[in-house]
Amino acid sequence: MNLILMGLPGAGKGTQADKIVDKYKIPHISTGDMFRAAIKNGTELGLKAKAFMDEGSLVPDEVTIGIVRERLSKEDCNNGFLLDGFPRTVAQATALDEMLNGLGRQINHVLYIKVPQEDLFKRLTGRWICPTCGSSYHEIYNPPKVQGKCDKDGSELIQRDDDKPETVGKRLEVNLEQVKPLVNFYESKGNLRNLDGNKEINEVFEDIDEVLIGSNQ
Ligand code: AMP
Repeated sequence: MNLILMGLPGAGKGTQADKIVDKYKIPHISTGDMFRAAIKNGTELGLKAKAFMDEGSLVPDEVTIGIVRERLSKEDCNNGFLLDGFPRTVAQATALDEMLNGLGRQINHVLYIKVPQEDLFKRLTGRWICPTCGSSYHEIYNPPKVQGKCDKDGSELIQRDDDKPETVGKRLEVNLEQVKPLVNFYESKGNLRNLDGNKEINEVFEDIDEVLIGSNQ
């Protein structure tokens, strides 16, 4: 099961990704998480990515494609994977197709979680994450049991630099420009699945599940 999870920032990709990997036992490959880990660990990749991320721009394609190629070659991807935050450009999508073709594989579904733009700003600026385990919460939609603390390990929740209001506007703008050609790309290939991201978290997952169960039969 080779999947792509798509949607503008704040559409609920992270939340649904957790549910998908939990049920279908495939690795969750988030390029954003990989870049953040690289920055935290002070690696060469982190140094390359940091300036772009800090200003809310995309990391260059050649850097991003390189880390995804390396990750997909790992053994745990043999039975499938869930890509989250990749591809973000048509060049990345084309490179991904080429990578998979070389392995005799292809993308099965592109799960596109759609949320009206006017709701996204509100959603994005309310997101808090756990610096220890990466769990994601929201002040309004998915609050932790104890305010400011991670349900799983009790760590103090933090707001990502790129979830701060000053950066959010730029992120949405960049992503809006990028998402349309990708939607067209996958729509024309026939594997785009539109999902209503304004439903309850569990209802969105039921819709995803329906797509995935259907394809497993
Ligand atoms: P995300 O957590 O997916 O919102 O990603 C956070 C930031 O990481 C983005 O704003 C970009 O700067 C960078 N990034 C993540 N994925 C990609 C990608 N596929 N292509 C380029 N930049 C990316």
